[in-house]
Amino acid sequence: MKIAVLPGDGIGPEIVAQAVKVLNVLKADGMKIEMEEAPIGGAGYDMAGDPLPEATFKLSREADAVLLGAVGDWKYDSLPRDDRPERGLLRIRKGLNLFANLRPALLYPELASASTLKPEVVAGLDLMIVRELTGDIYFGQPRGITTLENGEREGINTMRYNESEIRRIGRIAFDIAMKRNKKVCSVDKANVLETTELWRQVMIELAKDYPEVELSHMYVDNAAMQLVRAPKQFDVMVTGNIFGDILSDEASMLTGSIGMLPSASLDENNKGMYEPSHGSAPDIAGKDIANPLATILSVAMMYRYTFADMATADRIENAVKKVIAQGYRTGDIWTDGTMRVSCSGMGDAVVAAL
Ligand code: NAD
Repeated sequence: MKIAVLPGDGIGPEIVAQAVKVLNVLKADGMKIEMEEAPIGGAGYDMAGDPLPEATFKLSREADAVLLGAVGDWKYDSLPRDDRPERGLLRIRKGLNLFANLRPALLYPELASASTLKPEVVAGLDLMIVRELTGDIYFGQPRGITTLENGEREGINTMRYNESEIRRIGRIAFDIAMKRNKKVCSVDKANVLETTELWRQVMIELAKDYPEVELSHMYVDNAAMQLVRAPKQFDVMVTGNIFGDILSDEASMLTGSIGMLPSASLDENNKGMYEPSHGSAPDIAGKDIANPLATILSVAMMYRYTFADMATADRIENAVKKVIAQGYRTGDIWTDGTMRVSCSGMGDAVVAAL
Protein backbone atom coordinates (compact mmCIF):
# COMPACT_ATOMS: atom_id res chain seq x y z
CA MET A 1 0.00 0.00 0.00
CA LYS A 2 1.62 3.17 -1.17
CA ILE A 3 0.50 6.31 0.59
CA ALA A 4 1.34 9.81 -0.63
CA VAL A 5 1.74 11.97 2.46
CA LEU A 6 1.03 15.67 1.85
CA PRO A 7 1.36 17.64 5.11
CA GLY A 8 0.61 21.07 3.57
CA ASP A 9 0.57 24.25 5.63
CA GLY A 10 -0.16 25.59 9.11
CA ILE A 11 -0.90 22.77 11.54
CA GLY A 12 -0.77 20.29 8.62
CA PRO A 13 2.76 18.99 9.32
CA GLU A 14 2.06 18.59 13.09
CA ILE A 15 -1.17 16.64 12.73
CA VAL A 16 0.07 14.52 9.83
CA ALA A 17 3.13 13.55 11.90
CA GLN A 18 0.75 11.99 14.48
CA ALA A 19 -1.12 10.05 11.78
CA VAL A 20 2.22 8.81 10.43
CA LYS A 21 3.04 7.51 13.94
CA VAL A 22 -0.14 5.44 13.73
CA LEU A 23 0.81 4.12 10.28
CA ASN A 24 4.25 3.23 11.64
CA VAL A 25 2.62 1.10 14.36
CA LEU A 26 0.68 -0.78 11.67
CA LYS A 27 3.89 -1.18 9.69
CA ALA A 28 5.74 -2.54 12.71
CA ASP A 29 2.88 -5.05 13.07
CA GLY A 30 3.70 -6.39 9.62
CA MET A 31 1.55 -4.34 7.25
CA LYS A 32 3.22 -3.48 3.98
CA ILE A 33 3.04 0.30 3.90
CA GLU A 34 5.16 2.64 1.83
CA MET A 35 4.97 6.37 2.57
CA GLU A 36 6.39 9.24 0.56
CA GLU A 37 6.06 12.91 1.42
CA ALA A 38 5.52 15.85 -0.96
CA PRO A 39 4.59 19.54 -0.64
CA ILE A 40 1.16 20.97 -1.48
CA GLY A 41 -0.56 24.33 -0.98
CA GLY A 42 1.63 27.16 0.29
CA ALA A 43 4.44 24.67 0.88
CA GLY A 44 4.23 23.68 -2.80
CA TYR A 45 4.25 27.30 -3.88
CA ASP A 46 7.29 28.06 -1.69
CA MET A 47 9.20 25.06 -2.97
CA ALA A 48 8.20 24.92 -6.64
CA GLY A 49 6.19 28.07 -7.37
CA ASP A 50 3.01 25.99 -7.72
CA PRO A 51 0.41 25.01 -5.06
CA LEU A 52 0.26 21.59 -6.73
CA PRO A 53 3.76 20.84 -8.04
CA GLU A 54 3.91 18.34 -10.89
CA ALA A 55 5.94 15.88 -8.77
CA THR A 56 3.32 16.00 -5.99
CA PHE A 57 0.52 15.28 -8.44
CA LYS A 58 2.48 12.42 -10.02
CA LEU A 59 3.20 10.87 -6.62
CA SER A 60 -0.48 11.19 -5.64
CA ARG A 61 -1.68 9.71 -8.93
CA GLU A 62 0.59 6.70 -8.58
CA ALA A 63 -0.17 6.11 -4.88
CA ASP A 64 -3.03 3.91 -3.66
CA ALA A 65 -4.19 6.62 -1.29
CA VAL A 66 -3.32 10.17 -0.28
CA LEU A 67 -3.09 11.49 3.26
CA LEU A 68 -3.41 15.27 3.39
CA GLY A 69 -3.00 17.67 6.32
CA ALA A 70 -4.44 21.04 5.31
CA VAL A 71 -3.52 23.94 3.07
CA GLY A 72 -3.63 27.71 3.39
CA ASP A 73 -2.17 30.58 5.27
CA TRP A 74 -3.09 34.24 5.38
CA LYS A 75 0.35 35.14 4.06
CA TYR A 76 -0.64 33.79 0.62
CA ASP A 77 -3.87 35.81 0.43
CA SER A 78 -2.35 38.47 -1.83
CA LEU A 79 -1.13 35.98 -4.48
CA PRO A 80 -2.99 35.68 -7.79
CA ARG A 81 -5.90 33.24 -7.40
CA ASP A 82 -4.18 30.45 -9.36
CA ASP A 83 -1.12 30.48 -7.09
CA ARG A 84 -3.06 30.35 -3.83
CA PRO A 85 -2.85 27.20 -1.67
CA GLU A 86 -6.57 26.36 -1.96
CA ARG A 87 -6.15 26.14 -5.74
CA GLY A 88 -3.78 23.20 -5.21
CA LEU A 89 -6.53 21.40 -3.32
CA LEU A 90 -9.18 22.00 -5.98
CA ARG A 91 -6.76 20.86 -8.67
CA ILE A 92 -5.76 17.63 -6.94
CA ARG A 93 -9.45 16.75 -6.31
CA LYS A 94 -10.31 17.39 -9.93
CA GLY A 95 -7.09 15.82 -11.30
CA LEU A 96 -7.60 12.58 -9.37
CA ASN A 97 -11.32 12.65 -10.19
CA LEU A 98 -12.25 12.54 -6.51
CA PHE A 99 -15.95 13.14 -6.99
CA ALA A 100 -17.30 11.75 -3.73
CA ASN A 101 -16.66 13.48 -0.45
CA LEU A 102 -17.63 11.55 2.67
CA ARG A 103 -17.92 13.50 5.89
CA PRO A 104 -19.11 11.68 8.95
CA ALA A 105 -20.41 13.70 11.89
CA LEU A 106 -20.15 11.47 14.91
CA LEU A 107 -20.50 12.61 18.48
CA TYR A 108 -18.47 10.79 21.09
CA PRO A 109 -20.66 10.57 24.22
CA GLU A 110 -17.87 12.02 26.41
CA LEU A 111 -17.77 15.13 24.19
CA ALA A 112 -21.53 15.86 24.18
CA SER A 113 -20.95 18.98 26.29
CA ALA A 114 -18.64 20.40 23.57
CA SER A 115 -21.63 20.89 21.26
CA THR A 116 -23.53 24.16 21.32
CA LEU A 117 -26.75 22.13 21.11
CA LYS A 118 -28.45 20.44 24.04
CA PRO A 119 -26.95 17.00 24.80
CA GLU A 120 -30.35 15.29 24.27
CA VAL A 121 -30.49 16.70 20.71
CA VAL A 122 -27.00 15.51 19.71
CA ALA A 123 -26.13 12.55 21.99
CA GLY A 124 -25.72 9.48 19.81
CA LEU A 125 -25.44 11.48 16.59
CA ASP A 126 -23.94 9.39 13.78
CA LEU A 127 -24.50 10.98 10.41
CA MET A 128 -22.71 10.63 7.07
CA ILE A 129 -22.81 13.45 4.55
CA VAL A 130 -22.00 12.41 0.99
CA ARG A 131 -21.16 15.49 -1.07
CA GLU A 132 -20.48 15.60 -4.80
CA LEU A 133 -17.11 17.28 -5.22
CA THR A 134 -16.16 17.86 -8.84
CA GLY A 135 -19.24 19.41 -10.44
CA ASP A 136 -22.00 21.93 -9.72
CA ILE A 137 -21.73 25.70 -9.62
CA TYR A 138 -18.09 25.53 -8.46
CA PHE A 139 -16.97 24.22 -11.85
CA GLY A 140 -19.84 24.98 -14.27
CA GLN A 141 -19.22 27.17 -17.32
CA PRO A 142 -19.84 29.96 -18.17
CA ARG A 143 -18.41 31.76 -15.21
CA GLY A 144 -16.66 35.02 -14.52
CA ILE A 145 -17.18 38.72 -13.98
CA THR A 146 -17.99 40.70 -17.11
CA THR A 147 -18.89 44.27 -17.87
CA LEU A 148 -22.28 44.89 -19.45
CA GLU A 149 -22.93 47.36 -22.24
CA ASN A 150 -24.18 49.93 -19.75
CA GLY A 151 -20.85 49.67 -17.87
CA GLU A 152 -22.27 47.76 -14.93
CA ARG A 153 -20.37 44.62 -13.84
CA GLU A 154 -22.10 41.22 -13.69
CA GLY A 155 -20.97 38.03 -11.94
CA ILE A 156 -21.87 34.67 -13.47
CA ASN A 157 -21.66 31.11 -12.19
CA THR A 158 -23.51 28.17 -13.64
CA MET A 159 -25.07 25.23 -11.80
CA ARG A 160 -24.73 22.11 -13.97
CA TYR A 161 -25.01 18.38 -13.37
CA ASN A 162 -25.42 15.64 -15.90
CA GLU A 163 -27.19 12.38 -15.22
CA SER A 164 -24.10 10.21 -14.91
CA GLU A 165 -22.52 12.59 -12.39
CA ILE A 166 -25.64 12.42 -10.25
CA ARG A 167 -25.96 8.66 -10.59
CA ARG A 168 -22.39 7.87 -9.51
CA ILE A 169 -22.58 9.99 -6.34
CA GLY A 170 -26.03 8.57 -5.60
CA ARG A 171 -24.67 5.05 -5.88
CA ILE A 172 -21.95 5.83 -3.33
CA ALA A 173 -24.58 7.13 -0.91
CA PHE A 174 -26.86 4.10 -1.34
CA ASP A 175 -23.92 1.68 -0.97
CA ILE A 176 -22.85 3.36 2.27
CA ALA A 177 -26.44 3.36 3.57
CA MET A 178 -26.59 -0.41 2.97
CA LYS A 179 -23.74 -0.78 5.49
CA ARG A 180 -25.42 1.58 7.98
CA ASN A 181 -29.09 2.19 8.85
CA LYS A 182 -30.37 1.97 5.26
CA LYS A 183 -31.71 5.51 5.05
CA VAL A 184 -30.75 8.09 2.40
CA CYS A 185 -31.95 11.67 2.46
CA SER A 186 -31.29 13.44 -0.83
CA VAL A 187 -31.02 17.21 -0.46
CA ASP A 188 -31.97 19.50 -3.34
CA LYS A 189 -33.85 22.66 -4.26
CA ALA A 190 -36.04 20.98 -6.84
CA ASN A 191 -38.84 23.53 -6.39
CA VAL A 192 -36.66 26.31 -7.85
CA LEU A 193 -33.60 24.86 -9.61
CA GLU A 194 -33.98 22.59 -12.66
CA THR A 195 -30.50 21.15 -12.12
CA THR A 196 -31.68 19.74 -8.81
CA GLU A 197 -35.04 18.69 -10.26
CA LEU A 198 -32.96 16.32 -12.43
CA TRP A 199 -30.96 15.37 -9.33
CA ARG A 200 -34.20 14.26 -7.61
CA GLN A 201 -35.40 12.30 -10.67
CA VAL A 202 -32.11 10.39 -10.90
CA MET A 203 -32.12 9.58 -7.17
CA ILE A 204 -35.65 8.15 -7.49
CA GLU A 205 -34.56 6.01 -10.46
CA LEU A 206 -31.49 4.79 -8.57
CA ALA A 207 -33.51 3.85 -5.49
CA LYS A 208 -35.13 1.03 -7.53
CA ASP A 209 -31.77 -0.78 -7.37
CA TYR A 210 -31.77 -0.55 -3.56
CA PRO A 211 -35.18 -1.77 -2.40
CA GLU A 212 -33.96 -2.09 1.20
CA VAL A 213 -32.95 1.56 1.43
CA GLU A 214 -35.52 4.15 2.42
CA LEU A 215 -35.08 7.25 0.23
CA SER A 216 -36.41 10.65 1.28
CA HIS A 217 -35.99 14.13 -0.22
CA MET A 218 -35.54 17.45 1.48
CA TYR A 219 -35.10 21.01 0.26
CA VAL A 220 -31.77 22.44 1.27
CA ASP A 221 -33.24 25.25 3.37
CA ASN A 222 -35.27 22.77 5.38
CA ALA A 223 -32.24 20.45 5.66
CA ALA A 224 -30.21 23.29 7.19
CA MET A 225 -32.98 23.79 9.72
CA GLN A 226 -33.52 20.10 10.47
CA LEU A 227 -29.80 19.60 11.09
CA VAL A 228 -29.96 21.83 14.15
CA ARG A 229 -33.54 20.91 15.14
CA ALA A 230 -33.38 17.11 15.04
CA PRO A 231 -30.10 15.89 13.51
CA LYS A 232 -30.55 12.30 14.66
CA GLN A 233 -33.31 11.76 12.07
CA PHE A 234 -30.56 11.44 9.41
CA ASP A 235 -28.44 8.44 8.51
CA VAL A 236 -26.87 9.24 5.10
CA MET A 237 -27.41 12.62 3.43
CA VAL A 238 -26.47 13.00 -0.23
CA THR A 239 -26.22 16.32 -2.00
CA GLY A 240 -24.40 18.43 -4.59
CA ASN A 241 -21.18 20.37 -4.21
CA ILE A 242 -22.36 23.76 -2.96
CA PHE A 243 -25.17 22.52 -0.69
CA GLY A 244 -22.83 19.84 0.67
CA ASP A 245 -20.11 22.38 1.36
CA ILE A 246 -22.41 24.36 3.61
CA LEU A 247 -24.35 21.50 5.22
CA SER A 248 -21.23 19.47 6.06
CA ASP A 249 -19.71 22.42 7.92
CA GLU A 250 -22.97 22.92 9.77
CA ALA A 251 -23.07 19.21 10.65
CA SER A 252 -19.48 19.27 11.84
CA MET A 253 -20.30 21.91 14.41
CA LEU A 254 -23.08 19.75 15.86
CA THR A 255 -20.29 17.72 17.34
CA GLY A 256 -18.70 20.85 18.75
CA SER A 257 -15.21 19.93 17.68
CA ILE A 258 -13.98 20.33 14.14
CA GLY A 259 -10.70 18.80 15.32
CA MET A 260 -12.41 15.40 15.61
CA LEU A 261 -13.87 15.06 12.12
CA PRO A 262 -12.19 13.12 9.32
CA SER A 263 -13.12 13.06 5.65
CA ALA A 264 -12.58 10.98 2.56
CA SER A 265 -12.72 11.93 -1.11
CA LEU A 266 -13.06 8.96 -3.43
CA ASP A 267 -12.80 8.24 -7.14
CA GLU A 268 -14.67 5.59 -9.10
CA ASN A 269 -12.31 2.82 -7.93
CA ASN A 270 -12.36 3.79 -4.25
CA LYS A 271 -8.93 5.33 -4.45
CA GLY A 272 -9.06 8.20 -2.05
CA MET A 273 -7.63 11.28 -0.50
CA TYR A 274 -8.07 11.44 3.26
CA GLU A 275 -7.91 14.62 5.29
CA PRO A 276 -9.33 16.27 8.37
CA SER A 277 -12.45 18.39 7.78
CA HIS A 278 -10.82 21.48 9.24
CA GLY A 279 -8.33 23.89 7.68
CA SER A 280 -4.72 24.73 8.41
CA ALA A 281 -5.48 26.77 11.55
CA PRO A 282 -2.61 29.25 11.12
CA ASP A 283 -3.57 30.83 14.45
CA ILE A 284 -2.28 27.80 16.36
CA ALA A 285 0.33 26.46 13.93
CA GLY A 286 3.75 25.47 15.28
CA LYS A 287 2.56 25.40 18.90
CA ASP A 288 1.99 21.64 19.20
CA ILE A 289 -1.55 22.21 20.51
CA ALA A 290 -3.71 21.20 17.52
CA ASN A 291 -6.02 18.20 17.77
CA PRO A 292 -4.62 15.40 15.56
CA LEU A 293 -7.60 13.04 15.98
CA ALA A 294 -9.42 14.09 12.78
CA THR A 295 -6.29 13.23 10.82
CA ILE A 296 -5.81 9.93 12.65
CA LEU A 297 -9.48 9.08 12.03
CA SER A 298 -8.91 9.92 8.36
CA VAL A 299 -6.37 7.07 8.31
CA ALA A 300 -9.12 4.81 9.71
CA MET A 301 -11.35 5.89 6.80
CA MET A 302 -8.49 5.10 4.41
CA TYR A 303 -8.48 1.52 5.68
CA ARG A 304 -12.27 1.28 5.52
CA TYR A 305 -12.85 2.73 2.05
CA THR A 306 -9.66 2.31 -0.01
CA PHE A 307 -7.96 -0.71 1.55
CA ALA A 308 -11.29 -2.42 2.49
CA ASP A 309 -9.65 -3.54 5.75
CA MET A 310 -12.46 -3.05 8.25
CA ALA A 311 -10.56 -4.69 11.12
CA THR A 312 -7.74 -2.14 10.93
CA ALA A 313 -10.23 0.72 10.54
CA ASP A 314 -12.05 -0.50 13.67
CA ARG A 315 -8.75 -0.89 15.49
CA ILE A 316 -7.78 2.76 14.87
CA GLU A 317 -11.27 4.07 15.71
CA ASN A 318 -11.34 2.01 18.91
CA ALA A 319 -7.94 3.41 19.92
CA VAL A 320 -9.35 6.94 19.51
CA LYS A 321 -12.47 6.02 21.51
CA LYS A 322 -10.19 4.66 24.22
CA VAL A 323 -8.06 7.80 24.58
CA ILE A 324 -11.22 9.90 24.75
CA ALA A 325 -12.64 7.58 27.42
CA GLN A 326 -9.33 7.76 29.29
CA GLY A 327 -9.80 11.53 29.45
CA TYR A 328 -7.04 12.73 27.12
CA ARG A 329 -7.98 16.08 25.54
CA THR A 330 -6.27 18.65 23.34
CA GLY A 331 -7.16 22.28 24.09
CA ASP A 332 -10.11 22.48 21.67
CA ILE A 333 -12.05 19.71 23.46
CA TRP A 334 -10.68 20.14 26.97
CA THR A 335 -13.10 20.53 29.87
CA ASP A 336 -12.59 20.60 33.64
CA GLY A 337 -11.56 17.24 35.05
CA THR A 338 -9.94 15.94 31.85
CA MET A 339 -6.25 15.67 30.99
CA ARG A 340 -4.88 18.36 28.69
CA VAL A 341 -2.30 17.02 26.23
CA SER A 342 -0.34 18.44 23.32
CA CYS A 343 -0.78 17.43 19.70
CA SER A 344 2.17 15.04 19.90
CA GLY A 345 0.99 13.87 23.36
CA MET A 346 -2.36 12.90 21.84
CA GLY A 347 -0.53 11.06 19.03
CA ASP A 348 1.48 9.13 21.64
CA ALA A 349 -1.70 8.29 23.58
CA VAL A 350 -3.31 6.84 20.44
CA VAL A 351 -0.16 4.85 19.68
CA ALA A 352 -0.24 3.45 23.24
CA ALA A 353 -3.95 2.59 22.88
CA LEU A 354 -3.27 0.80 19.58
P1 NAD B 1 -9.67 26.43 10.15
O1 NAD B 1 -10.46 25.17 10.10
O2 NAD B 1 -8.25 26.33 9.78
O3 NAD B 1 -9.76 27.04 11.63
C1 NAD B 1 -10.98 27.44 12.24
C2 NAD B 1 -10.78 27.46 13.76
O4 NAD B 1 -10.71 26.13 14.24
C3 NAD B 1 -9.48 28.14 14.20
O5 NAD B 1 -9.71 28.84 15.41
C4 NAD B 1 -8.54 26.99 14.44
O6 NAD B 1 -7.54 27.26 15.41
C5 NAD B 1 -9.49 25.90 14.91
N1 NAD B 1 -9.01 24.56 14.52
C6 NAD B 1 -9.01 24.02 13.28
N2 NAD B 1 -8.48 22.81 13.29
C7 NAD B 1 -8.12 22.55 14.56
C8 NAD B 1 -7.50 21.44 15.22
N3 NAD B 1 -7.13 20.33 14.56
N4 NAD B 1 -7.27 21.52 16.54
C9 NAD B 1 -7.63 22.61 17.22
N5 NAD B 1 -8.23 23.69 16.67
C10 NAD B 1 -8.47 23.67 15.36
O7 NAD B 1 -10.43 27.48 9.23
P2 NAD B 1 -10.05 29.00 8.85
O8 NAD B 1 -9.44 29.68 10.02
O9 NAD B 1 -11.28 29.54 8.25
O10 NAD B 1 -8.98 28.88 7.69
C11 NAD B 1 -7.58 28.90 7.90
C12 NAD B 1 -6.88 28.51 6.60
O11 NAD B 1 -7.21 27.17 6.26
C13 NAD B 1 -7.29 29.36 5.41
O12 NAD B 1 -6.15 29.63 4.65
C14 NAD B 1 -8.26 28.47 4.65
O13 NAD B 1 -8.30 28.75 3.29
C15 NAD B 1 -7.68 27.11 4.91
N6 NAD B 1 -8.63 25.98 4.80
C16 NAD B 1 -8.12 24.85 4.29
C17 NAD B 1 -8.92 23.72 4.22
C18 NAD B 1 -8.29 22.45 3.72
O14 NAD B 1 -7.10 22.36 3.60
N7 NAD B 1 -9.08 21.42 3.43
C19 NAD B 1 -10.24 23.75 4.68
C20 NAD B 1 -10.73 24.95 5.23
C21 NAD B 1 -9.89 26.07 5.29
